[in-house]
Amino acid sequence: MEKFDVVVIGSGPGGYVAAIRCAQLGMKTAIIERYKTLGGTCLNVGCIPSKALLDSSEHYHQAKEQFSEHGISLDNLKVDMPQMIKRKGEVVAQTTAGIDFLMAKNKIEVFTGHGSFINKNEISIKHDDGKETKIAAEKTIIATGSKPSSLPFITIDKKRVITSTEALELQSVPKKMVVIGGGVIGLELGSVYARLGTEVSVVEYMDSIIPTMDKSMGKELMRSMKKMGVKFLLSHKVKAVEAGARSVTVKADDKKGAEVVLKADYCLVSVGRHAYTENLGLENVGIGTDERGRIEVNEHLQTSVPGIYAIGDVIKGAMLAHKAEEEGVFVAEHMAGQKPHINYLLIPGVVYTWPEVASVGYTEEQLIEKGTAYKSGSFPFKASGRARASMDTDGLVKVLADKETDEILGVHICGPRAADMIAEAVVAMEFRASAEDIARMSHAHPTFTEALKEAALAATDNRALHI
Ligand code: FAD
Ligand code: NAD
Repeated sequence: MEKFDVVVIGSGPGGYVAAIRCAQLGMKTAIIERYKTLGGTCLNVGCIPSKALLDSSEHYHQAKEQFSEHGISLDNLKVDMPQMIKRKGEVVAQTTAGIDFLMAKNKIEVFTGHGSFINKNEISIKHDDGKETKIAAEKTIIATGSKPSSLPFITIDKKRVITSTEALELQSVPKKMVVIGGGVIGLELGSVYARLGTEVSVVEYMDSIIPTMDKSMGKELMRSMKKMGVKFLLSHKVKAVEAGARSVTVKADDKKGAEVVLKADYCLVSVGRHAYTENLGLENVGIGTDERGRIEVNEHLQTSVPGIYAIGDVIKGAMLAHKAEEEGVFVAEHMAGQKPHINYLLIPGVVYTWPEVASVGYTEEQLIEKGTAYKSGSFPFKASGRARASMDTDGLVKVLADKETDEILGVHICGPRAADMIAEAVVAMEFRASAEDIARMSHAHPTFTEALKEAALAATDNRALHI
């Protein structure tokens, strides 16, 4: 039986990054992946393909809605959905091939098959052809990720009632789509189809969309998405989803209990994801899961069994690729005797709609709940010259700072390129900058980032310059 210092189960952003860092630190490393391609949810059916379709659909939407105002006229503009899906597939293939390269470069042995614990130090790998390989591991990192969740009364038939995975493969633009869940997936994939011409209705249980982010962000984003024609049914409780051969009917009760019936070509169920530990043999090593099926770990990301760690979507915390990556590096360095640290508060969250939403630190609601004395400064993109030039005037930047010390406690951006802009806020907060620090730094003109400087100025004695 071949023996490794570390075996990683699962090759998503948590697993493959952990494997690379282990190899960099001199450990003999193997990675096991049950799918044919490496990269996990993120590269195959998550971050990368969704962003490819978001970019394609945004190009179409701009061509249709904004080009004429820019003085560009087009005849015969149309969507070639099979080509759009094909390009997305090529982006995924190039990206997953990149992981093959990284594994080879770092001399990480890749096993294709389903991994499960025989005991603490032995792992079985079942291959598609029914054969089995057994390997020995000094230490193991569980990085088996997550799968889409559903509601007890919904059958995901993958034809009319679909998850994000099927929504990334549609071969024609639907006329109507009902999206259950106004969270990240619902709004990103809802945007893709709304831009392509689908009538999208988002049914959300809570009274706001992206309910875990700062409330002001959900409000701004909803205003923009409504302009695009997306309908929102907030505070609605879905009670039935009935799939026919060519359509689907969704029934929900509104706040007052009145029934609403929606008919569509597809119903996208995006009500969250759950940790994936199926047939992992956890019972053979005595590792338990919490009430939500997640593997329990301590502050060093160690499970209850010495030598077995867990990272990413399969444990508690935000289900984000970059959170999984940080945890992969953390575990490898901890195994090597180093003292790594992750500041979970400063893991940014991004929604890749247009305008984008990006956030780091505390929300205003959290500060109120904690009883922290804070001040707030905002700056709208409609007052930004750069945003006017590109016709991206929706949204705002909000900076929250400690009332006494001026330390930045949270930054929330709904606007163009928010996903890239949030990095400045992360760096600032990592160095415990004050709002005044950002307010006094030169920001290139004209850029969207000037809006962050202006919001920081607004947070410090209301001295924004351009409003
Ligand atoms: P995963 O990426 O889920 O990888 C786990 C891997 O383990 C899988 O490949 C699985 O096949 C394999 N595996 C499971 N069990 C076994 C076993 N027993 N043996 C062998 N292999 C096994 N996050 C962001 O940060 N930004 C985004 O823009 C973003 N967009 C997303 C869009 C969509 C549509 C979805 C669904 C998710 C998105 N996410 C995004 C979330 C992100 O994909 C996850 O947080 C991330 O992939 C988690 O990484 P992971 O390594 O923990 O697990
Ligand atoms: P989510 O948790 O972001 O959103 C789920 C939404 O469904 C919430 O708004 C919730 O209130 C709502 N909901 C729950 N039960 C409902 C019900 N019965 N009826 C109506 N609405 C209901 O989950 P998601 O959008 O499915 O995404 C799953 C995970 O994937 C998230 O944790 C997210 O972090 C990750 N993801 C991240 C990105 C990104 O970083 N850009 C993109 C896609 C997915």
